[in-house]
Amino acid sequence: MGKARSSLLGYPRIGEQREWKKALEQFWAGKMNELEFRDKMEQIRLGHVKKLAEIGIDLIPVGDFSFYDHVLDTSAMFGLVPERFKYEGGKVSLETYFDIARGNQGAVASEMTKWFNTNYHYIVPELDKEPVLADNRPLRFFREAKEKLNIEGKPVILGPVTFVKLSKGYKRGFKDVVEQFVPLYAKILRELQEEGVKWVQIDEPILSTAISNEEFEIVEDVYHALQESAPKVNILLQTYFDSVEDYQKVITLPVKGIGLDFVHDRGENLKALKRHGFPADKVLAAGVIDGRNIWRANLEEKLLNLEEILQKVHKDSLIIQPSSSLLHVPVTVRNENLPQPLTGTLAFADEKSEEVVLLAKAVNHGKPSIAAKIVEAIVAFQHLNSSTFRNNRQIQEELKKLPSMKVSRAATFSIRQLEQEKAIPLPLLPTTTIGSFPQTADLRKRRQEWRKGQLSDVEYDDIIKSEIKRWVELQEEIGLDVLVHGEFERTDMVEFFGEKLAGFHFTKLGWVQSYGSRCVKPPIIFGDVTFESPMTLKETLYAQSLTDKPVKGMLTGPVTILNWSFVREDISRFQVANQIALALRKEVEVLEENGISMIQVDEPALREGLPLKPKHQEEYLNRAVYAFKLATSSVKNETQIHTHMCYSNFKQIIKAINALDADVISIETSRSHGELIQTFEEKTYGKGIGLGIYDIHSPRVPSLGEMLKNIERALRVLDKKLFWINPDCGLKTRGEAETIAALKVMIEAARQTRERL
Ligand code: GLN
Ligand code: ZN
Repeated sequence: MGKARSSLLGYPRIGEQREWKKALEQFWAGKMNELEFRDKMEQIRLGHVKKLAEIGIDLIPVGDFSFYDHVLDTSAMFGLVPERFKYEGGKVSLETYFDIARGNQGAVASEMTKWFNTNYHYIVPELDKEPVLADNRPLRFFREAKEKLNIEGKPVILGPVTFVKLSKGYKRGFKDVVEQFVPLYAKILRELQEEGVKWVQIDEPILSTAISNEEFEIVEDVYHALQESAPKVNILLQTYFDSVEDYQKVITLPVKGIGLDFVHDRGENLKALKRHGFPADKVLAAGVIDGRNIWRANLEEKLLNLEEILQKVHKDSLIIQPSSSLLHVPVTVRNENLPQPLTGTLAFADEKSEEVVLLAKAVNHGKPSIAAKIVEAIVAFQHLNSSTFRNNRQIQEELKKLPSMKVSRAATFSIRQLEQEKAIPLPLLPTTTIGSFPQTADLRKRRQEWRKGQLSDVEYDDIIKSEIKRWVELQEEIGLDVLVHGEFERTDMVEFFGEKLAGFHFTKLGWVQSYGSRCVKPPIIFGDVTFESPMTLKETLYAQSLTDKPVKGMLTGPVTILNWSFVREDISRFQVANQIALALRKEVEVLEENGISMIQVDEPALREGLPLKPKHQEEYLNRAVYAFKLATSSVKNETQIHTHMCYSNFKQIIKAINALDADVISIETSRSHGELIQTFEEKTYGKGIGLGIYDIHSPRVPSLGEMLKNIERALRVLDKKLFWINPDCGLKTRGEAETIAALKVMIEAARQTRERL
């Protein structure tokens, strides 16, 4: 009799101790040569395959590993190197590969944007030329695992329809462009077939968005052609991050297997499966373990789901897996010291892999075979739920009062604008930065020492103060109009607030890749969030005491804190957002009472929480706007609320951004090459706006000409009286010299523009 199998869609690249990140950065810094780098990466990659085999995963993903990002890998696989990087064909060199992602002195990096509704970023493919098959990556990694470990993995490939959909720069119709890729994918599959590969996972997350009928027909044609071209390879067409838009159509696509998300589907995939069944000649890859959150699964509930699925799908046609790649969760809980109420409640990638194996075991050998594990999790959650952390009376009372509270500013923008102009005199085109400045190696070292108790609070404070002072002076010297304190006391914009609010837990090594080598460590919101004492007042007031220029207070917004954390699931996400907002509201009020006249509340993650399908978006946006306003609306008219967001696609959410009712917004634009300025035209927006005029993701110092051009382009559309000049984002990740140099160019660009106007 057949058996249900276990599988993963993808596994984190970064390694238990972020070895991957360290290798990349050493290589970029010239401290490791290419050979050493490739060796190290191979060791990490094969280590993962081996580990998953030991855990007992039947279908182990290969080829999902990357040196940067899997979308960039796909571009490189097809020789899609933008013209400006001077590529001469053949396999894309490591240098060119990283140049596309990071830019070089002669050419700007490709645009980077968020991968669906995650905080993972991909490099946007630029389709300005015919694709070729420059490198059969999936084959290469299949062979590697087979030769070195004797493990036959399951190659993972990003599908052509999603790939083209995420690309830009193509001149021909969408269908034509996708068709160009079909023979190339067919060739990959034929070579995999010759190699004896049995299963190939092709990701088409685009099927979980609201795709049009025409696009769906393209999907049908493509997969018909691909499955035909290599009939012995089983194509597992993989979707994730939501339910599929049209279940009946998707399950009849001409491939051997369909992968569905049964966690982030609002129950819709399961409902459709129960109603319409599942084709007997296909395999269902059921994503039942949450690939996006870190809570240990209730295996009993998961088994109930699987039982429902098994009414429609034969056991030997069932693959059990996480709902998405495990790229979005940290590697393992093994190295963590968890506080009492959290003990036994978490599962990261390795533990989730174990859960997948346990579920397969229970399906194949009966529930009693995993009974002990089931009970363990249930008991752990009983402790957590009944702990004081989840039962804070005071915040629950405050939340109850929300419906009767006024959650908007006292006056409209035009009135506030006048009062703010009077209260805070500024030149035309005021210049500012987004908040953070580079942190020296010494500062980071001192922070480590302080965290370990080797440095007293007073000593650490003094170090922070001297950095603030140094940078207030630097900002004055550079000539900025609105200063910031520089965020030297923060390693991460969410972590910092989480550590000062109740209800958060910070892991030791719970890192997740965000973009390139950059990893973030999302906190775990496990309890009720409450304000304990002022969080930013000391540093802000100190900076303000050193200058006559206004210093902008700097907070992270409620929606961003929510979206960049792993969030408890026993209450709704927006109850959690409102708890955070209430705490921030208290901070905003404290800053205002102490004379801070500008307060920036960053919401860089507002958009990434947007549901993939339009029908769910409005509700999300309404609640996000509510939380932001709850945090910011209690201030006086003359207090200027700023917000900041860093991504490019604002079209869908411009109404919501308007509704935030911030006095000034600063946004990232330079990497999207000016495409979004129109979105913020006066007619539609009409409040203060700073379009980032240079890219901070690259170490390159832009020229005066480039900056002038960016300003000029924006002013063609936007009102000069509302326009601010600032970089794209915070400068924390940059070196000091390049930061100062770039800001000086920016100030010069502002000066020349003012003169011209
Ligand atoms: N104020 C933050 C900073 O400057 C904003 C960062 C962000 O938008 N991601 O670092
Ligand atoms: Zn930003």
